[in-house]
Amino acid sequence: MNINIFSIFPDFTKTINDWSIIKRAIEKDLVNINSIDIREFSKDRHSKTDDYSYGGGPGMIMTPQPIFDALDTVKSDIKIYMSPRGKTLDQNLLRSLMKYENISILCGHYEGIDQRVIDNLIDLEISLGDYILSGGELPAMVLVDGLVRLIPQALNNEESIINESFDRNLLEYDQYTRPKEYRGLKVPDVLIEGNHKLIKEFRLKSSLKNTLLYRPDLLEKVELDEKENAILREIIEELEYSRGGK
Ligand code: SAH
Repeated sequence: MNINIFSIFPDFTKTINDWSIIKRAIEKDLVNINSIDIREFSKDRHSKTDDYSYGGGPGMIMTPQPIFDALDTVKSDIKIYMSPRGKTLDQNLLRSLMKYENISILCGHYEGIDQRVIDNLIDLEISLGDYILSGGELPAMVLVDGLVRLIPQALNNEESIINESFDRNLLEYDQYTRPKEYRGLKVPDVLIEGNHKLIKEFRLKSSLKNTLLYRPDLLEKVELDEKENAILREIIEELEYSRGGK
């Protein structure tokens, strides 16, 4: 996968190349990530990349010329603009982007970019959520991190993406590590006893319970089998009992 990030702050976005899973994926040649400086493509005498908004109003708008010219220099199967009005990023959207080999990501800054760029260059606008950030750089870095994790072999076995939250629209189960007891707080016995069938059941129940408690909206999107539905009813009964019983 080749990812090109277009920004006026390429030194900022470049930092993701140097850490953790992304760094390793680059070393393993699973992905190329380039941060490209839009300013270098400006034909303005002072390398300007922004100007006043036609019609007036506060703030500067990024001009089309450097962006068009910069994006012309790379092969793109999809051109994404990080934008607060775009489609909200989620795991399904990440998965749907995995089919592209060459991904270009444009980061806006200031008040945003000239609409002609969006209308004529951009294939998809992606938002991180309903809030305004100063630039598209952090959103682009979030997007890239989410994508790289999905590249086969980017994660070690022990970091496997299977069973991660949102994998099936269920949240992950509770997890514990050593020691068995800390400040009198114990790890659930079932996880220590080593009965794999019981561990699997514990995890399924924990996953269903977490989804019910934290994100009940997700349960509407997931198809539960008979056994899972039975466990879910059991969880609901237990919760009602513990609420009413005290
Ligand atoms: N005036 C614009 C906001 C501009 S913020 C508006 O009201 O919609 C400047 C840049 O930050 C944007 O061009 C975009 O690239 C990025 N940005 C800000 N918030 C974002 C979000 N929630 N998701 C993705 N990108 C965002």
